[in-house]
Amino acid sequence: MISARDLAAQVRGGADAAVATRAALDSIERQRELGAFLHVDREGALAQAHALNERRRSGVPLGALAGVPVAVKDLLATRDAPTTCASKILTRDGRLETGWRAPYDATVVERLRAADAILIGKTNLDEFAMGSSNENSGFFPVHNPWDPAHAPGGSSGGSAASVAAGSSCLALGTDTGGSIRQPAAFCGVVGLKPSYGRVSRYGLVAFASSLDVIGPIANDVADAALLFDVIAGADARDSTCTTAPLVPCFNVESQVPRGLRVGIPAEYFQSGLDPQVESAVRRAAQRLEAAGASLVPISLPHTRYGVATYYLIATAEASSNLARFDGVRFGMRVEAPGSDLAQLYAKSRGNGFGREVKRRIMLGTYALSAGYYDAYYKRAQQARALIVQDFQAAFAQVDVLLTPVSPTPAFKLGEKTDDPLTMYLADVYTLPASLAGLPAISLPCGFTAGTANAPALPIGCQLIADSMQEPVLFRAAKALEGLLADLQTSLCPARAQSPLSMLTNSDVARGVGG
Ligand code: GLN
Repeated sequence: MISARDLAAQVRGGADAAVATRAALDSIERQRELGAFLHVDREGALAQAHALNERRRSGVPLGALAGVPVAVKDLLATRDAPTTCASKILTRDGRLETGWRAPYDATVVERLRAADAILIGKTNLDEFAMGSSNENSGFFPVHNPWDPAHAPGGSSGGSAASVAAGSSCLALGTDTGGSIRQPAAFCGVVGLKPSYGRVSRYGLVAFASSLDVIGPIANDVADAALLFDVIAGADARDSTCTTAPLVPCFNVESQVPRGLRVGIPAEYFQSGLDPQVESAVRRAAQRLEAAGASLVPISLPHTRYGVATYYLIATAEASSNLARFDGVRFGMRVEAPGSDLAQLYAKSRGNGFGREVKRRIMLGTYALSAGYYDAYYKRAQQARALIVQDFQAAFAQVDVLLTPVSPTPAFKLGEKTDDPLTMYLADVYTLPASLAGLPAISLPCGFTAGTANAPALPIGCQLIADSMQEPVLFRAAKALEGLLADLQTSLCPARAQSPLSMLTNSDVARGVGG
């Protein structure tokens, strides 16, 4: 499959922007059963491509993502498509077609347009990004492109599945506690959670405002860096978005691992870790070492408080953020004749929100309520500070940390839906970096063995760097990706249905395909 960077270079140089757009639209059409997309506008996407061709003909130089089909998680506001957050509460009557229309674009969407990307569609997710499997979507689940019986991960499962299946070249996801990294690992693609505050959250529907980050999902590290450079950077409309200087990452050299100090945190390799995942991550560490990196044993002693801390803070913030969905201002309004305002709120929220979202609103409201605040919310903030300190001590010794992304490869759809706690516990390796606001990237590092009736599934590893050190992270990630290249032997079965994934550089140059 052509890379996003090569495609953009070709389109800038004169190739027809509609070729890849058409191929992506056909791929999405053929892969409908994956459930990755909530909204696709074929005419609209082709019109974007034709407009690019026109602009280039009139002599305007095109941008960094010229003609590249990019899928956008449906938690981000887009003015030309519905924004539902995969929740019925953002529809008039429970149907996708009646989804809420934002009157504006999120900053990241504006930047995609300014870079001449093709916005190919809005991707499915767990309702309001609450979940790790995409089964909490208010509409339909997403299936893993490697094996449809398995979950793609969540909450950015639609975005990860779309890239893995070859329905788009790139995708935007959001990550509050792992929602970019874990689906990237389950689907065998690259996913970056940038540092908190590196990317504007303006136009991102808030889940937990002190944790939410938008980031790229891509087929490889260089394409992830390309998209990161487009979306990152200060924004006057988000006061939590840093004005610290932004170092572009696309051109960072792969670090020769010689001299790279890689921390291996003991707490990430304890009981509960699947042996196949453990050996794949340890192999990645060994290859770094063989190439000259030094492996440094690290302890992050407060890791074990990560799950409890996250599920208190995230639910507390969610209970406040989701108060705005009240049946009056947005979407669904359920009103019985003669009912008062309180009944309108109760009925609209009762009908509009799904089970997991209601569970979190109740948990968060409880944690914040008078009498419990000190025991739960305040303690969680204290534990968060300790987790931050653990990382600070680690980064005094090492450049990056190497860990698993998830304790297991993709699990089966339905396997964990009856037990929310088991689902929460599986986020154990992604939550601490979120609580500390650190940049972290998920990279494919091998496959499970697979059997005659169980196909091999991808395994991911995670690199974590200190805050705002994305260049360090990308250098290490490029190096590791190179050292693991021989392991990417399996081809995602869903790609066989994807005209976009067949598209080569010369097809694009000749204007054929799709
Ligand atoms: N799985 C975590 C949760 O359910 C993280 C979700 C996310 O990052 N949006 O909250």
